[in-house]
Amino acid sequence: MSQAFYLPTRVFGGADCLKTHAAFFRTLGTKALVVTGRRSAVATGAGADLASALETQGIDYELFDQVPPNPGITEVREAAAVARAEDVDFVVGIGGGSPLDAAKAIAVLATNDLDDQALFVPPFAKLPLPIVAIPTTAGTGSEVTPYAILTNDRIQSKSNLGHETLFPRAAFLDARYTYGLPRHVTVNTALDQLSHLVEGYLAVRGTPFSSELALQGLRSLGPALRALAINQEQPSPALRETLLLSSTTAGMVITHTGTTAVHALGYGLTYFKDIDHGRANALLLPESLVFLQPAHGDKVRDILDALDMRNLQDFRSLVDSLLGPKETLTEAEMRQFAAIAIQARNMANTPRYPPRPTWWNSTEGASLPRDAPPRSDGARMSILRPGVARCLSTTKMI
Ligand code: FE
Repeated sequence: MSQAFYLPTRVFGGADCLKTHAAFFRTLGTKALVVTGRRSAVATGAGADLASALETQGIDYELFDQVPPNPGITEVREAAAVARAEDVDFVVGIGGGSPLDAAKAIAVLATNDLDDQALFVPPFAKLPLPIVAIPTTAGTGSEVTPYAILTNDRIQSKSNLGHETLFPRAAFLDARYTYGLPRHVTVNTALDQLSHLVEGYLAVRGTPFSSELALQGLRSLGPALRALAINQEQPSPALRETLLLSSTTAGMVITHTGTTAVHALGYGLTYFKDIDHGRANALLLPESLVFLQPAHGDKVRDILDALDMRNLQDFRSLVDSLLGPKETLTEAEMRQFAAIAIQARNMANTPRYPPRPTWWNSTEGASLPRDAPPRSDGARMSILRPGVARCLSTTKMI
């Protein structure tokens, strides 16, 4: 297991951290492109705080506030054109995962001429512009990851643009920006970070450091999720603080581990069914643990212990109570989404079950598990498809 750990993002935290650490922006240049959604920067107060921080440092800026949820390549190209035309020195993303990830892709396209396929194949000829991230939700973790997840119509899913030059130079964590989030956003983003911590702990690429961080994140997040499930009121400032801290911790985890089948499958639910990203993951998460438990029982037990839960039924009950009524999928949809998800790079990061299946070398059909694939499939697909089938059976779920 690799013990490497690299995370070059400077993290500033606490109330008014933008004001307190405004001088940091001077290290990045004299003109910024501020990238955000249509509402979040204004509604949270983060936009005003950033504007005044930049002004105190004599830094000019342009605003691009047209990032949609689940942005695609077209939108980031549009913003990159603004970055070029205005000759900005750095990009600041304000918002949830969509604006933060868009900011990273914009930083790449501001300095590189790349077609839609080359965009996802780093390294890039020229360094991307420096990036600063100001999260206004507690879920994505994008403020400390080198990943930009973009909707990609060519593959009818999302693609991950990931490279170490995309680590934000700085992240400003001010939980006040999350105070006004509607309940469904608070819940869905909390479920996304739960997914990051659980997937990160189980991922093939896990390291001793990422595992420690994942368990610590789960210890913080468990009580916070229970509080969210019980209390329908707006979370307290202390709870918001906890959620933001564990979200960034979860981001540090997936920086090192990547995500797994749950995210790969979840992207299909978002692309085709418009189900929010965190919710899509959570619909798949309990059953994925049931599926992995026989081969990875110790790790599943660690996750349950960190969450202070007795068993997987406790896990499912908590997730279900946060999800509320669930969506339904047809058999045809499940097959379609699974066929796309199985091509995703993060499928290979999923711990395999069984590590060497009993039916692997078998000549007897009777020894095949019920959902085993035809033997003519490639080895990788043969191992993974039962997992995909099982994960997606949850969405039927439903
Ligand atoms: Fe995620």
